[in-house]
Amino acid sequence: MGSSTGSDLPVFVVTGTSGAGKGTLEKALLAQIPELALAVSATTRERRDGEEDGREYWFISDEEFDEKLGSGEFLEYVEFPWGQRSGTLRSEIARIQGGGKVPLLDLEPQGALEVKRTVPGAVTIFVEAPSFEENERRLRARATESEGEIEERLDLAREQLSQAGAFDYQIVNADVDLALVELEGIVRKCLEAVAP
Ligand code: 5GP
Repeated sequence: MGSSTGSDLPVFVVTGTSGAGKGTLEKALLAQIPELALAVSATTRERRDGEEDGREYWFISDEEFDEKLGSGEFLEYVEFPWGQRSGTLRSEIARIQGGGKVPLLDLEPQGALEVKRTVPGAVTIFVEAPSFEENERRLRARATESEGEIEERLDLAREQLSQAGAFDYQIVNADVDLALVELEGIVRKCLEAVAP
């Protein structure tokens, strides 16, 4: 199988709404499956407390983002209604695959669909909260956004939920341990399918 990322190994994309609990699941998944490595996106948003440059994101300015966009460094990117842009650097995928690992991408649904369309072998997994109310509760409990931005994220989440069926797998994250078992099962099955 040929691939635009230069590898026969898959690229895993975890997507879903903001507040579905993707981040927690991904951290746990990375701890369980050492063959995976998180592709660190570049973003123009402010760094939150506890976040580190190069770990959660590469935090860059609007000008730097424009430059990288102009020189074709992004595999995909998104611009959110509240202004921030985030994108997957091709160099991150190359770095991970060059080290013999399998990239794990955390993307909102539009970017995930773009990767599904352009990267052969991409495996896309949509994570959702058990209800919209629970999604809202989790987003508010995180309390990292302003009230206005939470409302915008919730509006977007409504729209994104209607796209869930477009992805290869769907996981309802009602209980994080059960959701992790499901996610790990999907990833292991796909990795075994391509193992030599
Ligand atoms: P946050 O600002 O809360 O870290 O992330 C908001 C959303 O952006 C999350 O749903 C996350 O999956 C998504 N996201 C993070 N990096 C990227 C990226 O490089 N591309 C796309 N399309 N979405 C991203």
